[in-house]
Amino acid sequence: MQSIYGISMKDLESFFINNGYKKFKAKQVYDWLYKKRVKSFDSMYNISKEVISLLKNNFTFDDITILTKNEDVDVKKYLFNLSDNNKVEAVLMYHDYGNSLCISTQVGCNMGCKFCESGRLRKVRNLESYEMVLQILKIEEDINDRISHVVLMGIGEPFDNYDNVINFIDIVNDDNGISLGSRHITVSTCGIIPKIKEFTKYDKQVNLAISLHAPNNEIRDKIMNINKAYKIEDLIDALKEYIKVTNRRVTFEYIMLDNVNDSCECAIELSKLLKGINCYVNLIPYNETSHIEFKKSSKKKILDFYDVLKKNNINVTIRREFGSKVKAACGQLRANYEEGL
Ligand code: SAH
Repeated sequence: MQSIYGISMKDLESFFINNGYKKFKAKQVYDWLYKKRVKSFDSMYNISKEVISLLKNNFTFDDITILTKNEDVDVKKYLFNLSDNNKVEAVLMYHDYGNSLCISTQVGCNMGCKFCESGRLRKVRNLESYEMVLQILKIEEDINDRISHVVLMGIGEPFDNYDNVINFIDIVNDDNGISLGSRHITVSTCGIIPKIKEFTKYDKQVNLAISLHAPNNEIRDKIMNINKAYKIEDLIDALKEYIKVTNRRVTFEYIMLDNVNDSCECAIELSKLLKGINCYVNLIPYNETSHIEFKKSSKKKILDFYDVLKKNNINVTIRREFGSKVKAACGQLRANYEEGL
């Protein structure tokens, strides 16, 4: 059986039509789930008994539970327990523009980026759409406030779980449900080109971020396994096409790793690579973890790198550092939990 939190409005409407009901019933169910936030079918009291039992026979009312919470001034990190006892994390960041939530899309990750904690434990399974939806609902309940922005940058590679991710976006974006604006949703990928091409055809104005982290194949090959399958020049070509078709700007994430990718030469090379592309670069101070040998670049090196990009007319920002005290690096909380730390 499928979870009720994992079905899109369109599919729920078809479900009702196929069972001889008006499609309007789907809106009523969404209203109970996402506006009134009830936790059982029996609480949906304006829906007939007959329809409630149809729902009960076809859908489950799954849940995920908050296992631990770590708090800092501007960030709150959650570890969730899933129904099969797997664990994933989500990170809530308080920005001046609203509450932004970073959610996980898989248990573990198979992309094998050398600097990333999530990949150390490998992928156990994909998350179902409902498990992504519930990360939002649970945290909104916990903070008694709305989440205004969602980034798919937690554990996992969203484009290695493409269909569930798209279904998740359809669910949370629906006006009858959580109603999260598509421009407030960002999907981040390490660069799975066939899925970028598929995403180019997706009709919602969702933001795309690319974990680039290197200006050339030589460096990228060393730190990101995905680059062995999909080379930088092909990635850039796919993104140029994406920008042409969607008319949207792409974000490039660039983690600053000491003596790996942070030299002025790298900055010059990156400027050349991105010249004329409608994009902006987000320089990310590396969040060091005890298991991995990479170190963060010095403040000076980050600022020098920033200056080179600026001089070359590349839009660039330096990401504010969140949560180094609360182990907010991607996958850190889960890894520590699984290893009993
Ligand atoms: N797999 C997707 C999304 C999850 S990772 C992707 O690769 O984009 C989200 C971002 O966090 C990526 O840019 C990733 O490279 C970065 N990241 C991973 N570990 C990090 C760390 N320790 N410090 C800072 N950023 C990190």
